[in-house]
Amino acid sequence: MAKFDPRNRKVKILATIGPASRDPDMLRRLFRAGADAFRFNMSHGDHAFHAENFKAVRALEKQFNRPIAILCDLQGPKLRVGTFADQRAVIPHGSRFVLDRDETPGDATRVCLPHPELFDLMEPGQRLLINDGKIRLRVLEAHPDRIVCKAEVGGVISDRKGVNVPDAEIPIPALTEKDKRDLTFAVDQGADWIGLSFVQRPEDLIEARRLMGDRCALCAKIEKPQAVQRLDEIIEHSDGIMVARGDLGVELNPEDVPPLQKKIVNATRLKGKPVIVATQMLESMIESPAPTRAEVSDVANAVYDGVDAVMLSAETAAGEWPEESVIMMNAIASRIEQDEDYKLRVRLLDTPPDPTVADALSHSCMTIADTVQLSVIAVFTWSGGSARRVTRERPAVPVMVLTPSVAVARRVSLLWGAHAVATKDIGSFEEMIGKGKRMALRHGFGGKGCRLVVMAGVPFGVSGATNLLHVVTMEGDELQKHEG
Ligand code: PGA
Ligand code: MN
Repeated sequence: MAKFDPRNRKVKILATIGPASRDPDMLRRLFRAGADAFRFNMSHGDHAFHAENFKAVRALEKQFNRPIAILCDLQGPKLRVGTFADQRAVIPHGSRFVLDRDETPGDATRVCLPHPELFDLMEPGQRLLINDGKIRLRVLEAHPDRIVCKAEVGGVISDRKGVNVPDAEIPIPALTEKDKRDLTFAVDQGADWIGLSFVQRPEDLIEARRLMGDRCALCAKIEKPQAVQRLDEIIEHSDGIMVARGDLGVELNPEDVPPLQKKIVNATRLKGKPVIVATQMLESMIESPAPTRAEVSDVANAVYDGVDAVMLSAETAAGEWPEESVIMMNAIASRIEQDEDYKLRVRLLDTPPDPTVADALSHSCMTIADTVQLSVIAVFTWSGGSARRVTRERPAVPVMVLTPSVAVARRVSLLWGAHAVATKDIGSFEEMIGKGKRMALRHGFGGKGCRLVVMAGVPFGVSGATNLLHVVTMEGDELQKHEG
């Protein structure tokens, strides 16, 4: 089994897998460099491609004996152009560009737009924004089979780039037929998280949940103005939230994104659910081995804001420097978390405990870690619920999450500060304390003389019965005394 060095940071890194990173050797490098979870983008690649990636990540998991979350990100009703004869083309500024229904690969003058509904909808004068708004087309003429545009801003366009239509309301449901097929596939393959794109209303999440059951956790991507308006309800209906800044900054204005990011992060943290900040975090590293200072600052600020995870998109999926991107993100996160102001900043958001025993104990874990020297908080959980409540407090020490469920261990690997361990079920209080100490030692959280807090519920195995906190000191020889 390959050796795993525990991360020396609390924030997690979610790396998107694609052609640049799906090779098992590269996956291993990314994991070693700091990728805690992987995102599969269902907008690209067929099921055979993703099935291989599932196998590769599960093999990696086995190799390191560490639970790794897979987030399958559904395309959603995202409009995309078709493909190009040379995979890409350059549209000159001011030129005419035609979107049509002809599936022949495109060039610098035309491409297929595989969304019939748009041909009836678009009107002269409206905008079509391509590739996160980098290319701006203005409709000159709209016909049943082609939309003739002027490229007000041209640029590089490539296969299946996204199209936003901010000036028209598009009558497409949250889950397309493709999404439904992809969702069934992802659930069957054992995805841990499903990412739902272009969520507009809580009903979108209810519909996804109806199709997937409780076999995976559900992450709502906030990228539509409609979702921002109903944020609290959407958080309520999700297991986690992604600030999908790419489309958010096109559907709204780029300058709306930073205040919204902070608002979404705080609202999600307050509810004790994981929040991911995504898109363009180290964008220039797609082509360059070093990021811009502004990108470093962006990642740093997300870390200071206490997000659960920062995400890499094309940087790891299709870029030239996938490993360097993870190394850089890891370096930024680790450095920021060592800043003496970090603890203060990350707790600027007040997260008062709910009036429950579990929350009172979760809050106590945090204050104990602030008061006495602790090496780790060990939380026994069935559903992962206690892990969420403890990490919500943003305690000063790592949270080791012990659960008999591999699925829960994988899911919580996205949580701030959580080090998940899937372990055999335990029966008694003594067993629990013994296992807490043993696992702390085995996973590198302190040694002889170090103290840890164990949080659990007795009787064990009853979800929602957390009622116990125990502070114990390690003798250092627990590993010899026991098996398993
Ligand atoms: P996408 O989502 O990469 O699937 O578009 C992220 C975003 O819009 O930021
Ligand atoms: Mn998006």
